[in-house]
Amino acid sequence: MSAPRAPRARPRLAVHKFASCDGCQLQLLNLEHELLGLADRFEIAHFPEASSRCLPGPVDLALVEGSIATARDAERIREVRAGARVLVSIGACATAGGIQALRNWADVEAWKAELLPHPEWLDALPTSTPIAAHVKVDHEIHGCPIDRGQLLRVLVRFLLDATPDLPGHAVCLECKRQGHVCVVVAKGLPCLGPVTRSGCGALCPGLGRDCYGCFGPADDPNPEALAERFDALGLQRADVVRRFRGVEGLASAFRRVGGEPGADDA
Ligand code: SF4
Ligand code: SF4
Repeated sequence: MSAPRAPRARPRLAVHKFASCDGCQLQLLNLEHELLGLADRFEIAHFPEASSRCLPGPVDLALVEGSIATARDAERIREVRAGARVLVSIGACATAGGIQALRNWADVEAWKAELLPHPEWLDALPTSTPIAAHVKVDHEIHGCPIDRGQLLRVLVRFLLDATPDLPGHAVCLECKRQGHVCVVVAKGLPCLGPVTRSGCGALCPGLGRDCYGCFGPADDPNPEALAERFDALGLQRADVVRRFRGVEGLASAFRRVGGEPGADDA
């Protein structure tokens, strides 16, 4: 009889926060039925939202939430990358700069002076940028917040040594699958579903509302054609631009309509 095999070491998981609202890492805690099973299969080395325990690195998998918005962020993300075998950025902040990237089209110093009694206390970079602009990112999970089912899928596939297989098709397809009435056709709403990556289950159109693109661009979108459709619905061009310049406004496909930072016309 062969000797029993030594139990396989659990991969070490770290969850890091940068400029963000914590909503995406909260989706990990929201995996209520799966959480204990995940804690059995991963060694949680660093997850300040859940525990004050912090083990020294390196780790096998780092989930990174938030954008790079300060000089210290820019240093810290390099440390996180150096200590992680696989790095997955989670959410619109980490994958596209988030809503705080609206500053990229504005004068941050003017905003600080207008809003804060002591603007000198805020160490903010003039831009908010995604994690991939600073270090190599292995995979991205999109959304604001991310979908916990997609997060679970990525974690399970990591345990299986498999590549994540998240969909890249548009929200429109989800609407058709679920039998939702199209809010562009039926209500004349400026829905970004035709160019937005699925993953939310067509949440907003399912409630009769227009998608505002929080999962970012779908694979091979045509934002210019959708912008023309919005023009035909009667939107002013400035409103069309603003439509594309939301939580995912810095995503390159949305910039084709929303404009490049520095060319402020919204
Ligand atoms: S992507 Fe949205 S939910 Fe996630 S941290 Fe950023 S603002 Fe919060
Ligand atoms: S329908 Fe659009 S805005 Fe609404 S949750 Fe889904 S991707 Fe986000």
